[in-house]
Amino acid sequence: MSDRLDVVGADLTVTLTSGEQRRFTHLDYAASAPCVRAAADAVRDLLPHYGSVHRGAGLRSQRSTLEYEQARDIVAEFAGARDGDTVIFTRNTTDSLNLLARALPEGTTTIVFDGEHHANLLPWPTPVRLPAPADPEDAIQSARSAFASVRGPGLLAVTGASNVTGEIWPLRELIEVAHSYGGRVLIDAAQLAPHRPISLSDTGADYVAFSGHKLYAPFGAGVLAGRGDWLNAAEPYLRGGGASTSVGDQAGDVVWATGPARHEGGTPNLIGAVALAAVCDALLHADRASLDEHERSLLAALPEGVTLFGGKQPRVGIVSYAVPDPAAVADRLAREHGIGVRAGMFCAHPLVRRLGGGGDCGTGGLLRVSFGLGSTHDDIDRLLRAFDELGVRGI
Ligand code: PLP
Repeated sequence: MSDRLDVVGADLTVTLTSGEQRRFTHLDYAASAPCVRAAADAVRDLLPHYGSVHRGAGLRSQRSTLEYEQARDIVAEFAGARDGDTVIFTRNTTDSLNLLARALPEGTTTIVFDGEHHANLLPWPTPVRLPAPADPEDAIQSARSAFASVRGPGLLAVTGASNVTGEIWPLRELIEVAHSYGGRVLIDAAQLAPHRPISLSDTGADYVAFSGHKLYAPFGAGVLAGRGDWLNAAEPYLRGGGASTSVGDQAGDVVWATGPARHEGGTPNLIGAVALAAVCDALLHADRASLDEHERSLLAALPEGVTLFGGKQPRVGIVSYAVPDPAAVADRLAREHGIGVRAGMFCAHPLVRRLGGGGDCGTGGLLRVSFGLGSTHDDIDRLLRAFDELGVRGI
């Protein structure tokens, strides 16, 4: 693996309840992935000279403006943006989805499945909610029936990979269905982007959204990329400096910018954008086939966990288990074994309930193990030994 994709802080140690010091095993990448060298270096290099983007004639501002727009170009390449697509820097995937939800033309019907993360369930105004499908064919048929009854613009907002089961959704087929009815598709790639290419031009998807902090960069930057027409016609998402090109003396006398600036009001998050772009660049130049192969071998070493599509779809490095009292198991894994996983409902309440993780956020849910760049067979072996020692059954 290229050292630009080496994880920073992989040698973090933790003191166990026994008093023993141990290397911390991070298996909660789906929540936030650790930073890689490319992002850390980009931040370090930027700190001595950053200035205000798009807002000054001096060296710092000029250089920062150039770096911000270069970051956008790299992200555009990573997202496989086509001519006419817009790439907007946001705060995270949630922000990107809210932005698109506010940019929908009048009368748009949004279609979502109940298997979504709340970030892709809640922003849409009165969406048509389809039950989480039983298998990929069911997903495709439900989408077909839903689009068949849509009048006016239709948008299917679907996850690329589930944050609960890690399964990759049948995106190409869903995009084909949507397009055959003149509809559009947004891919919530928060969990897909860290593991697989997410090209708009390859898949034909209309929009893609993802978060820097799940893509091995620090917090605070996300992306919405896709068709420029709705975005350019929409009300600006953040009204203010940068989003307007001219403001008159009367209230409401304003000319709004077009392109990304229309929705990026205020001083942008240069450091976040540059760090995110540095990871995109490193991934664009990485040997994805060998990264995939390694991920598959780690997945194969783990018990299967809960699934929606019953093994009919490939999955990324995310596996959840239905165990009694997942919060207590996660707590003991952390304190007694130095292993970080997540327990709960993972902001996907309908799906987690459907998969057998009843209860509420405090006591119920599932136990989720997730990994990515820098994860090793030693990490998985430690987890499996810890499961044994804790007497976790049913895994
Ligand atoms: N979509 C999916 C599938 C996710 O897993 C998450 C976060 O876990 C989000 C959206 C929201 O991402 P963020 O919290 O970075 O906005």
